[in-house]
Amino acid sequence: MAQATFSREGEVVKSFKLLSGHTIPAIGLGTWRSGSQANTAVFTAIVDAGYRHVDTAWEYGVQEEVGNGIERAIHAGVDRKHLFITSKLWCTDLSPERVRPALIKTLKELQLDYLDLYLIHWPFRLKDGASRPPNAGEVLEMDMEGVWRELEKLVKDKLVRDIGVSNYTIKKLNKLLSFAHTRPSVCQMEMHPGWRNDKMIEFCKKNGIHVTAYSPLGSGDLIHHPTVERIAKNLNKSPGQVLIRWAIQRETSVIPKSTNPDRIKENASVFSWEIPAEDFRILSSLPDQKRVLDCQDLFVNPSAGPFRSVAEMWDNED
Ligand code: NDP
Repeated sequence: MAQATFSREGEVVKSFKLLSGHTIPAIGLGTWRSGSQANTAVFTAIVDAGYRHVDTAWEYGVQEEVGNGIERAIHAGVDRKHLFITSKLWCTDLSPERVRPALIKTLKELQLDYLDLYLIHWPFRLKDGASRPPNAGEVLEMDMEGVWRELEKLVKDKLVRDIGVSNYTIKKLNKLLSFAHTRPSVCQMEMHPGWRNDKMIEFCKKNGIHVTAYSPLGSGDLIHHPTVERIAKNLNKSPGQVLIRWAIQRETSVIPKSTNPDRIKENASVFSWEIPAEDFRILSSLPDQKRVLDCQDLFVNPSAGPFRSVAEMWDNED
């Protein structure tokens, strides 16, 4: 996968090249569960820690806070052109006529006139007001081709620079590739040493699709993993830095979430050192691979379906 490096104020900032020719900065700030702290977290990340990439979603309910943080950073002198802002289209908006209004609402909340990347958050269409998990009849048929055509139009109209997907399976990506005029630039998936998802990385590499690793710290769960702690101690780094560096060495961009100013800075200090080959191999072969976020509560209804188990929801691809 093509990769570019450039220097800013003496610091090496790495980014990855997308199919479109645009670049995505290797590290972005995650904003899920950031609540009212999202504004300060985004400002701190951009202005004090040098992040140029922010990951958010309509569903996180923090876009106004994120937008205020971005606006303050721009006011402090950061050029919008140098920022890479990602948001996601939620499941209730997965019908062609709802795509553009959803994007317009997201742009308004973020106070932006374009997004760098707009992702389909999950490949399941939910009825408005669906319960969690959904009741019978609340997971609806999805016109994936119609939705993708509308996303392609957003690119043509320069409202979005790149489009992509999240939480897709290889089967669903193959289907999407069969009709896409504009191919997805990015596939965002849960990935960390406890859930490597190697098959998806291989598939995306083969198809030129860049992968972004979400929940790179296992949503916090991997910070105290003994192997991660041991490798971090030997390298004189924190477990968080080792997990983030591991993701970058796999050539995935990575979006750790933090609202703590010290951890926001720590998580971005991963470019002047690397994980030695043997430690990288050890981290890349942890047994007991398991998703931290299986999102059972979002989509699985054992009695009514359409997904009666987590395996069914993931097309039995595990
Ligand atoms: P992460 O794996 O990024 O872990 C975040 C947790 O780790 C928080 O509790 C944070 O607490 C803590 N933390 C952060 N840095 C450190 C550190 N250096 N040392 C110790 N603890 C640390 O979890 P997320 O699940 O939030 O994933 C990251 C982002 O990925 C999300 O915020 C979201 O943007 C995206 N995402 C996308 C999904 C999708 O469906 N496409 C699904 C899930 C996530 P604190 O804030 O106190 O530092």
